Formats: sequence, C-alpha cells, structure tokens
Amino acid sequence: MNKFERLRLFLSSIQEPSYRFDQIIGSIFLKKEADFESMFFLSKELRSKLKQEFTPFLAVSRVGEKVSSQGEKVLFSLFDSEKIESVKMIYRDWQSFCLSSQVGCLTNCLFCATGKMGFKRNLTTDEIVDQLLYFHLKGEEIDTISFMGMGEPLANPNFFEALGVLTASQFFNISQRKINISTVGFLPTLKQLINDFPSINVALSLNNPFPQERQRLMPIEKRFPLKKVLPILTYHARKNRRKIFLAYILFSGVNDAPRHIQGLSGLIRDQGEAAYLYHVNLIDYHPVAGCSLTASGRKKMTWFKSQLEKQGIKTTIRRSLGLSFQGACGQLRT
Ligand code: SF4
Repeated sequence: MNKFERLRLFLSSIQEPSYRFDQIIGSIFLKKEADFESMFFLSKELRSKLKQEFTPFLAVSRVGEKVSSQGEKVLFSLFDSEKIESVKMIYRDWQSFCLSSQVGCLTNCLFCATGKMGFKRNLTTDEIVDQLLYFHLKGEEIDTISFMGMGEPLANPNFFEALGVLTASQFFNISQRKINISTVGFLPTLKQLINDFPSINVALSLNNPFPQERQRLMPIEKRFPLKKVLPILTYHARKNRRKIFLAYILFSGVNDAPRHIQGLSGLIRDQGEAAYLYHVNLIDYHPVAGCSLTASGRKKMTWFKSQLEKQGIKTTIRRSLGLSFQGACGQLRT
C-alpha cells in the first residue's frame, strides 16, 4: 500500500473528516509543502500525530549528487541501504526526470552498467514515486518523466501502482503523453501497460534488428523475442495512435553496418500501416567498465541516420544529456 493510501486510512482511523486528506494532499501537490509542522490548517495535536506516524515522509533520502549545466544526477539511499539514481535533465525550455524502477536489473544487457550489478530487488511504489516527489518538493517544474534509469520497469509489479499515483489528478496529475517507458519488451506486462495507460509513450530497447545478434547484446531476446514484442507495439500504435520509439545504441562494428540499416528499415516496414508511427532514436554509447564494446562515433551516427532517412525512417540522434555525469541511458549505477 502506498503512503497516500496509508495516510487516508490513518486519518479515517482517528476519525478525521474526509476533507482532511484533500487538504494535506493539496498542501503537498499544490503548495509543494510536505512538512506537517508547517501545515497550520491542522491542529497542533494532529500535526504531531502525523509527524510521528509519517516520518521520514520520503522513502528515498538523498546521499549524493552531481550537478552540471545539463542537469543533476541524484544518488538516493533506501531503507535497506541500497542505492538508486535519478536524473534531472534540463532542455532549453523544459525539464525531464529519469527515474529508476529496480535496484539493479535482471535482464543483464551486455552493454549496461546496471545489468552488471545483477538484480537486487524491486522498488516499492513509494520508492518509485518519491524520486519524483523529492524534486517536486524542491520546487522543480516537472514537464516530462521517463523510466530509463535502473531496472526494467515492466518487471516490477509495483510500477503500475506508481504510474497510477503519477497520473492521478489529485496527486502529480502528469499526462500519460508526457511519460516515456523504456522496456526491453517485457511480454508478461506489456499488454497491461498499453491497456491501462493507452496514451503512454513506449520506447523499445532494440539495438539490433537481427534476433540472433540482438540476443548477444540482450539475452532477454531469447525469452521475449522481437517477433512477439513488435506485434503488441504495433497494436498500440494503431489502436491508440501513439508513436513507438526504437532505441538503438550504436556499437562500433557490431550493429552499425549497411545490412543493419536494411534490417532495421525492413523491420519497420513490416509493421504495415503503423510503420509511419515508428521512430528510431540513435543513442551514443558511453563505455562501461568490464565491457569491450565501443561507440561507433558521431560521424558514423550521422551517416547511419541519413541512410535510415533515405529509407523513409524517421530518425533522431538523441542528445546524451547525461554524458557529463554518466547518467545517459544504461549508465546509471551506484
Ligand atoms: S539496459 Fe535497461 S534492461 Fe538492460 S540491463 Fe540495463 S537497466 Fe536492465
């Protein structure tokens, strides 16, 4: 049960009127004030009861940060001393927050620092939500959020409850259209995500159009093959009119040859009338200790983009805002 539900139940257990909950939630989400001591619309007695019952209020506590002109990476400690990271990325006129969903990750992608940590545990709903609540209470404007931090979000059952809190009008009230979920194509819950949150953006971590080669980079291909994942994404694109993003990290000599361009554009064309909703995001690779893969480099990336575009594929080179503090995609670690 998340802390807002616990708060509601606690207030009812001490016979407080139901509008009390709304007042407190209004203070947290409209005034960005979560310190019960400062909620003077409550009696002194109630303030002290709430403080006793809900301290610490956040399930994550900041233990470190790296700040650059591109944003901020925050290291959080959890109740069991595990650590996770979240990143604020500053664009020209908006801010985006990249959140974690697990401690470590079980999918073990060859190129990923988080994958090398192994899987420790799922984050609780509060631990997911409070990464954002931390920034909200600091007064930050939240324009978009993405789950591209540590972990595979769809493998964590608490993730769906957290999405509920993030999108609920009474709480964060973030439009589904402003939420981006990055997944390896976790089949058991991918359909649930699309059905429960039909306007959400999904980015598939693709990295190679050929199943056998993809499996070498991402062993999860064996369990959740592209041939089963893509029809679900195409269904999302057609039914909900949502773009599907294919994340493609370019590795030198591994997935950056002309045949990969042909394979990738063929894969997209195979999606029929939904093909125009597919969009490739090319991502620069930042080396990870213990991994021999190297980046293709900027020149190759520009060439790869132009070749895809010649095939009619919409392609963007993603700015690696996290570079200066190692918070780029697949680079979060403790
Ligand atoms: S890239 Fe994502 S899914 Fe793969 S190991 Fe890293 S965190 Fe997990």
